Amino acid sequence: MRAVLLGPPGAGKGTQAARLTERFGVPAISTGDIFRANVKGGTPLGVKAQEYMNAGQLVPDEVTNAMVRARLAEDDAAQGFLLDGYPRNPEQAVELDSMLADLGVELDVAMEITADFDEVTQRLLKRAEIEGRADDTEPVIRKRLEVYATSTAPLTAFYAGRGLLVQVDGLGEIDEVTERLVAAVAR
Ligand code: AMP
Repeated sequence: MRAVLLGPPGAGKGTQAARLTERFGVPAISTGDIFRANVKGGTPLGVKAQEYMNAGQLVPDEVTNAMVRARLAEDDAAQGFLLDGYPRNPEQAVELDSMLADLGVELDVAMEITADFDEVTQRLLKRAEIEGRADDTEPVIRKRLEVYATSTAPLTAFYAGRGLLVQVDGLGEIDEVTERLVAAVAR
């Protein structure tokens, strides 16, 4: 399975990606996780990404695209992958198409986890208490949702137009949402 996972911050993409990776036997590739690991390790990539992340803005496409291109070329992604948090704008979606074309493969499905902004804001504020992420503060959450609405939400129509979109309600128990996603993909 070659899939992208869409949905606003706080919809549960990371949680669901970790579960779907077991179900489908393909690696979950989270651009946010890769950036955070680089920030933690103080790498040049992390240094470049950090100020954007802390402001709730997208890391520039040339940095992000190069990172994803390299990751998708790794051996474990040859049989499939689940991209969590990429693409985040139409330019990245076009770039992903080009990466996949170069690898001689195609995307199978774009799964969108839907959740309203009030709900995800509450979840992210709760997560802030547990994980202490630098970008889970109220003003940064607001900015991330704004970026989602402006830059990422148009991808729903982009993938729907290609017949690849499945949408699943992100409200409810974690297990329920996982089952909805598995059922939606099987359809
Ligand atoms: P996430 O963990 O997916 O919420 O991502 C955390 C932050 O990493 C985002 O707010 C962005 O600053 C950055 N980031 C993650 N994925 C991307 C992407 N595809 N393009 C640009 N920036 C990204």
